[in-house]
Amino acid sequence: MCREARCPNQAECSSRGTATFLILGDRCTRDCRFCAVRHGTPLPVNPEEPFLVAAATADMGLRHAVVTSVTRDDLPDGGAELFVAVIRAIRSCSPGTTIEVLIPDFQGDWQSLKKVIDARPDVINHNVETVPRLYPVVRWGASYERSLELLDRVYAHDRGIVTKSGLMAGMGETRAEITHVIRDMVGSHVTVLTIGQYLRPSVLHHPVDRYLPPHEFDELKDLALAEGIKRVAAGPLVRSSYKAGLMFAEETGTAE
Ligand code: SF4
Repeated sequence: MCREARCPNQAECSSRGTATFLILGDRCTRDCRFCAVRHGTPLPVNPEEPFLVAAATADMGLRHAVVTSVTRDDLPDGGAELFVAVIRAIRSCSPGTTIEVLIPDFQGDWQSLKKVIDARPDVINHNVETVPRLYPVVRWGASYERSLELLDRVYAHDRGIVTKSGLMAGMGETRAEITHVIRDMVGSHVTVLTIGQYLRPSVLHHPVDRYLPPHEFDELKDLALAEGIKRVAAGPLVRSSYKAGLMFAEETGTAE
């Protein structure tokens, strides 16, 4: 995923033993206006994926593996079973590797979410992405309240799992709206947060409203910490998995 997404942080992440894998194919059933992922009719689920991801994790000697997916509203459980199989496969092939899953909202099917929680990944990440006012504009098929409830349910079911989320800035939101979202995240027990600059994938996507100067990301980081988020990575090139392993280790007191 890091390579396909041409992520600017690859060198830094791999030097820390972190990489991200995309499962459940490369076609999403949704069409968020900020996302470069292909949309349309997804291909059948590849049952080999858990073993392929686990083998790559072991081969690369990863300290922290991030597993993400497109949204598969076409599947009865939204792909939850495959997330569970990937977590179990990594655990058996690479017991020393910590696991973070960046999950879709499973259309609010909490039984599917519970399956992933019960597989006990170290981190469950679900991006809120932007402010509620912009959801109808850029995040079709998603619900702000549903995303907050998902994060809250992770904490309610298992406080041993680190709850994480992410935001993009520069899509037209105000500072007051971002503050409101951060307070809602604290209310949903999010402890780790990433905030990055929205970059337009193509002219067909939502336009960039503005590019935030680096000092504003520092202010957003200070704001989020002051509101009660424990760990924050904020900056123009910050992505959901940026410093993922490090922030997890710091949050759990296992940082070297
Ligand atoms: S649901 Fe996720 S992968 Fe699908 S279009 Fe939206 S952001 Fe992209």
